[in-house]
Amino acid sequence: MKTTKEIPYKIYLEESEMPTHYYNVRADMKKKPAPLLNPATLQPMTAEELGQVFCKELVAQELDDSTAYIPIPDEIRSFYKMYRPAPLVRAYELERKLNTPAHIYYKFEGNNTSGSHKLNSAIAQAYYAKKQGLRGVTTETGAGQWGTALSMACAYLELDCRVYMVKVSYEQKPFRREVMRTYGATVTPSPSNTTEIGKHILQQHPDTTGSLGCAISEAVEDATRREGYRYVLGSVLNQVLLHQSIIGLETKSAMDKYDIVPDIIIGCAGGGSNLGGLIAPFMGAQLRGEAQYRFIAVEPASCPSLTRGVYAYDFCDTGNVCPLAKMYTLGSDFIPSANHAGGLRYHGMSPTLSELYDQGLLEARAVEQTSVFEAAEYFARVEGILPAPESSHAIKVAIDEAIRCRENGEQKNILFGLTGTGYFDLVAYQHFNDHDMTDYIPTDEELKASFAKLPKLDNQPR
Ligand SMILES: *Cc1c(COP(=O)(O)O)cnc(C)c1O
Repeated sequence: MKTTKEIPYKIYLEESEMPTHYYNVRADMKKKPAPLLNPATLQPMTAEELGQVFCKELVAQELDDSTAYIPIPDEIRSFYKMYRPAPLVRAYELERKLNTPAHIYYKFEGNNTSGSHKLNSAIAQAYYAKKQGLRGVTTETGAGQWGTALSMACAYLELDCRVYMVKVSYEQKPFRREVMRTYGATVTPSPSNTTEIGKHILQQHPDTTGSLGCAISEAVEDATRREGYRYVLGSVLNQVLLHQSIIGLETKSAMDKYDIVPDIIIGCAGGGSNLGGLIAPFMGAQLRGEAQYRFIAVEPASCPSLTRGVYAYDFCDTGNVCPLAKMYTLGSDFIPSANHAGGLRYHGMSPTLSELYDQGLLEARAVEQTSVFEAAEYFARVEGILPAPESSHAIKVAIDEAIRCRENGEQKNILFGLTGTGYFDLVAYQHFNDHDMTDYIPTDEELKASFAKLPKLDNQPR
């Protein structure tokens, strides 16, 4: 790819160049992601049914797979201006250190107190809840980034925020918890005995360290029991990918300014929201036949939903209170080994990304966490930013691809999403530094046992 202008270390957009609309990639997909199903009737969830759990406007966004551009309300844009546009960084130092002819770019989303991209959707979801006249929202959080982001958004809009935090993180990450409380959120370790589903799970597994699926069940139950509350989710759903498209839209504008065309676009994939957002406008261009890129999703080998899961309807949560989603899944009660410290622990993958992957438009790679932390350490020492373990999955594959370019003498443009910072992940870094980090990769037998518990629908793969 030819570039004429000298490219600065950081490519910033002006405020006036920030996106005014979200981009909905589903509008350009010929085959759409499968609809959410009501687990009782196995019929597609209606807006009315979804409206009992989610805010009205967000339900409309969830179900809309034909409108390509959806306006970003001014109030949300004002909030974005406090921490956006996010820089697109040319990783000159990393290129030099790797001695690669490749050009490496990363979009840095760690420039806010929550330390990740999750604030982009948190503010949108809180805004629509407020606009509907609700009193508050409930949610789950794993490592704590989403809970923190939502707490910040709720504080700004004066909404009540109730967070169910996966117990192992609640105990290992007390600092995250205190950030959330500082922004006014109520934080409960999950499973808890404040909900029926939590009590039930504790009875069956008294020693459980919790899981995202279980915390989701508790948060949904809490929202449906409380007047004026709705549940919000930080990833997986179509609406979240829609909000996160701001990442890709800014990136594409910044690259267009310097005539840069990425050849390879890489992102870590937990529930799929940052990757879905980063690739959205590029994937849209490809779906419309205007361009060609390689897209790579990177997931942990210990929670390999795309590379080893099945594409099937499954529950989004352990308690089976949420709708069924068709996605690449490891089974809704799959819980990654407790020694997995790198985040990205969700058992399924966003239906939009799952469908793109199934159509062969997206590649996936699973990487082991020790290699992820090696990449994180390398990146921190060379580029200066201490990356989140989640983000480091993308760093690992970006470095691998840059090395491949060196070996093949290819000058490719590599773009990856640097989703956040790792200041609250120092227990994981400690294990890495102490050389006692291990990786537990689930066996085929374990996965098979988990798949056997998928909901029984016609045409479900086994
Ligand atoms: C939550 C999180 C992720 C993974 O979530 P996605 O929905 O897959 O984007 C990645 N990086 C960071 C820093 C996160 O906080």
